[in-house]
Amino acid sequence: MEIAIIGAGVSGLSCAIKLKQHGIQADVFEKRAIAGDRFVTAEVFLNLLDYPFYDSIRYLSEEHDLLIKPTSNIKKMFIHGPNVSSCLEGHLGYSNLRGKHDEALEKQLQSQYEGNIYFENKVDYQEIAKEYSHIVLATGDPLDTQQIQMFEEAFRASFKGGIVTGEFTPNEVHAWFNNELAPKGMCYLIPHSHSEASLVLVYPQYKENQHVDKEALFQKFHEEAQRKLNQTLNLVSHFSINDYRIGISSYPRIGNTYFAGNCFGAITPFLGFGQFTSILTGIYSAMDIMGKGNYDELTKPLYQNFYDSLALRRGIEKLDNSKLDLVMKSIHTKILETMLTRRKVNLLKIASKALKPFL
Ligand SMILES: Cc1cc2nc3c(=O)[nH]c(=O)nc-3n(C[C@H](O)[C@H](O)[C@H](O)COP(=O)(O)OP(=O)(O)OC[C@H]3O[C@@H](n4cnc5c(N)ncnc54)[C@H](O)[C@@H]3O)c2cc1C
Repeated sequence: MEIAIIGAGVSGLSCAIKLKQHGIQADVFEKRAIAGDRFVTAEVFLNLLDYPFYDSIRYLSEEHDLLIKPTSNIKKMFIHGPNVSSCLEGHLGYSNLRGKHDEALEKQLQSQYEGNIYFENKVDYQEIAKEYSHIVLATGDPLDTQQIQMFEEAFRASFKGGIVTGEFTPNEVHAWFNNELAPKGMCYLIPHSHSEASLVLVYPQYKENQHVDKEALFQKFHEEAQRKLNQTLNLVSHFSINDYRIGISSYPRIGNTYFAGNCFGAITPFLGFGQFTSILTGIYSAMDIMGKGNYDELTKPLYQNFYDSLALRRGIEKLDNSKLDLVMKSIHTKILETMLTRRKVNLLKIASKALKPFL
């Protein structure tokens, strides 16, 4: 068996680790000079969205011997509507770092991989297809999937974010749902430490958003975050991304080519989370290659999750600011809070039900 993994990111490295755990060495190609060679930003694993897995990081360690040390265990999530805020409390998930940071997820995964990575090797799928019996496409870019099969694009997202300094409680994150700050999108603040955090704005690039002034929106959000947190947040670095494709591949594998991570369609359209699904698709493709699972079957729930998440997004997009405030109030209700934070529930299904009265 000759296996090539294209991309040493979250999904590619997860696949390589799993194969190596069973004594199988793949050729891992990475176009950059190091794993995680990009801007630093904080991301999250949210337990609420990973149904039926209650605790994603614990699951990965217990079931797959894949160890992730998060930056913090998220205990509080403040959700700010246009005028009303609410707070969820409990074991909500984890925050972690990405990019050129010593504790970045990519670095943590690389340190657990005992094989070789061919860095500065930008590989073209068509060129190597004949040389390998199995190929895992894990480049993080659905455009590469589209060279081989249909990738159903739900929308493209635009990001503007940066690192701010201030005083933070590492296990408390903030999210804003306000069409005046992020039309049909969201803003968030995730601490990296007591003194540093990521501040990010993201919205879909729909036709009606094409004249949006991203810089002005980000400035407005920056001011709102300072007001809400009652302190000055100094912006020390920033990044901007356009055309970040969110969608799903028609097939998880074609012959012996496996689509993993964003190439599979790992990002859930509702809030844009893709780390856990990226790791799962990496692991699942390895299991199929080793004859220990069937990738088509293993990824079925991930397709379901994608479509449930897309339906929820389409519902929320219909809410104007006054309705978003009503939703914030309903999150306040004890019953919903208990359902969301203390039990293993499918948030996507519950949220769709809870939203019905507002639509
Ligand atoms: C700003 C931002 C915030 C996000 N926040 C969250 C969050 O809070 N929670 C969450 O769960 N998800 C979040 N996501 C999504 C998450 O980061 C992705 O779903 C995940 O990283 C995808 O993993 P991957 O393995 O597909 O790609 P990556 O981890 O990006 O890895 C792809 C790798 O392939 C390499 N590569 C590309 N082309 C080639 C080639 N031709 N040859 C060799 N190597 C190649 C790249 O250099 C890269 O190292 C966020 C995304 C962004 C952009």
